[in-house]
Amino acid sequence: MEGALIARDRVGIQDFVLLDSHNSETAFLDNLKKRFTEDLIYTYVGILLISVNPCKELDIYTKKQMDLYMGVNFFELPPHIYALADNVYHTMLSEASNHFILISGESGAGKTEASKKILQYYAVSCPSSTLLDTVRDCMLMFNPAFGNGPAPIGSGPNDNSSRFGKYMDIQFDCQGDAVGGHILSYLLEKSRVVHQNHGERNFHIFYQLVEGGEEDQLRHLGLEKDTQHYSYLVQGECSNVSSINDKNDWKTVKNALSVIDFDASDTEHLFGIIASVLHLGNVHFDGDTKGYAILNSNALLGIHVQVLHEALTFRKIEAKSEEVLSPFTVDLAICARDALAKAIYGRAFTWLVNRINESLENKDSERKTVIGLLDIYGFEVFSVNSFEQFCINYCNEKLQQLFIQFTLKSEQEEYEAEGIGRIRVHFSHCFSGSRCSSSTIKSSDLVEEKHRGIISVLNEECMRPGDATDLTFLEKLEEKMGNHPHFLTHKLADKKTRKSLERGDFRLLHYAGEVTYCIVGFIDKNNDLLYKNIKDVMRLSKNPIIQECFPATEGDSRRRPETVATQFKNSLLRLTEILTAKEAWYVRCLKSNDNKQSGKFDEVLVRHQVKYLGLMEHLRVRRAGFAYRRRYEVFLQRYKALCPATWPHWRGVPAEGVEKLVQHLGYKPDEYKMDRTKIFIRYARTLFATEDAFEIC
Ligand code: ATP
Ligand code: MG
Repeated sequence: MEGALIARDRVGIQDFVLLDSHNSETAFLDNLKKRFTEDLIYTYVGILLISVNPCKELDIYTKKQMDLYMGVNFFELPPHIYALADNVYHTMLSEASNHFILISGESGAGKTEASKKILQYYAVSCPSSTLLDTVRDCMLMFNPAFGNGPAPIGSGPNDNSSRFGKYMDIQFDCQGDAVGGHILSYLLEKSRVVHQNHGERNFHIFYQLVEGGEEDQLRHLGLEKDTQHYSYLVQGECSNVSSINDKNDWKTVKNALSVIDFDASDTEHLFGIIASVLHLGNVHFDGDTKGYAILNSNALLGIHVQVLHEALTFRKIEAKSEEVLSPFTVDLAICARDALAKAIYGRAFTWLVNRINESLENKDSERKTVIGLLDIYGFEVFSVNSFEQFCINYCNEKLQQLFIQFTLKSEQEEYEAEGIGRIRVHFSHCFSGSRCSSSTIKSSDLVEEKHRGIISVLNEECMRPGDATDLTFLEKLEEKMGNHPHFLTHKLADKKTRKSLERGDFRLLHYAGEVTYCIVGFIDKNNDLLYKNIKDVMRLSKNPIIQECFPATEGDSRRRPETVATQFKNSLLRLTEILTAKEAWYVRCLKSNDNKQSGKFDEVLVRHQVKYLGLMEHLRVRRAGFAYRRRYEVFLQRYKALCPATWPHWRGVPAEGVEKLVQHLGYKPDEYKMDRTKIFIRYARTLFATEDAFEIC
């Protein structure tokens, strides 16, 4: 990997490595702000790209801009997401290597926008882009419609918050044509289907169907053209969001479905499912004389009412060779109904991802290289944090760990390859309680350690249905990790801290700061139980998608299904493996303010993000040894005019040309080092002088 060799910008510094006042956070922020005020939202730290959300449309994403950045070196133009996309692409082609771009930042910081811009860039710049058009169309539809809703309260307003994480591979052949793609999705926030807090909406697709669906279609699905009619859509009292036009978005959805070869019957079945979830939400239960639930709605999901009635109001218990029906109370019936609605939506979502993957699949076995894009939820801290935030923050913790490992590893490898020696940079790292250097990085064991970690304790409690409650889980946690320095509860806290903790809370010290989690719902959400007789009934559905989503083989298995936390932990493990096999590039998105106000740079908010995204630490790594490195050819190409021996062409070995050039420029021996392929420059000032000479000439 190469450092960005950049001239001083007229507005601040384009690459933080060039910042004069060494590791000062204030200077860092001043530079970001100065550039942001001039609509320069991008700045580099070496090859890492920082993007500050402008909260307004900028004129920097035109076709003309794309053309400008094609095949151009980092330092020749102002920092841009296109420069990063282009460099990744060309490095992949020239080295035949695999890469990924990790896009991170908190909700509303611009991650999904950044991934769209990268996809759009490839769709324009790749020689043949039919497949990329498909990928882009899918993303434009699938992401917002099925996976987005407004961000939770307390996270700042993002009407299009991604409520799932996604990793997408784009496969290229050796000519640079995109030939295939694959999407992995992570932890869809299913609870949103049945419950929204005040000010939140459900997933957009529900409103799009009700508002945009044609009359015939709605009649066929038994839907009213009124979102207020559906109890799953009105809880947040926020059906209408001014920035969202459901009718128009409905057209985008239909268009994208046609791109992935959805025919009329596929479409009918998919929207039959969306409609069924709405109908389910309106199913009410009355209590009979004994308080047991009775269903009072008509046909649903192509399943006979009587059958569904039984499944939602009775639990089938198999005892020895007998089956006993145990009636639900009204509350239990509501839980069973909501669990079914979440399961149907979640499984249909996975089915759709699989369907998109089929249409993006590369059938050709020729050797391919890959660029992966990871757009995953950022660190979340709300006024009330639940199981979802716990998983999301754990995921961020893992990715941050990976980031540190990658950064240090790639620097270390490069230095060692050159015989330049070891670097030691200290990172403050979550959960380990100590300051870690490259050799002592530990995993986030507080969460994932076998037998003792939070996930293990939670799973153990989930194995004791009936006996375990959220509170017994909390007690077990206190027992097992009571003395961990990064774990705290009301009972464990000293007098002063206790005031800030409720009895049902636990607090974790993450790398990004403290988060207090409310224990309520941890057991249920982790179990995500759907009674066997409900699954059996789903198999009777006439809807083929539902049949696929509830396969018969699932019913045969006697094994306990994996808990949500275990599934998530395993999928993160697989993701780590996927990423570790590739070369890493980073886009760090920062939110400029909490109100989506264009032009406003909230220094306190940005400072916090700079801190927890580890940007200062990343900068320190970049500066710990040599600030710059550049391939001989590229260095010569840029500065050859500064030395008579290399101008207009240097026809010899590039390293010798560079040696002549730097001798001529008067570089002192301690200012640079030459390796096999690159020149390393220690100080920013050396480069400033060279850039100045270049500008004058
Ligand atoms: P979440 O984690 O909630 O999904 P996110 O980081 O994906 O959030 P985005 O949806 O990408 O956030 O961005 C939020 C909004 O900010 C966008 O809808 C858009 O209005 C604005 N925005 C983000 N990046 C840019 C940009 N580069 N130019 C213009 N507007 C932007
Ligand atoms: Mg997003």
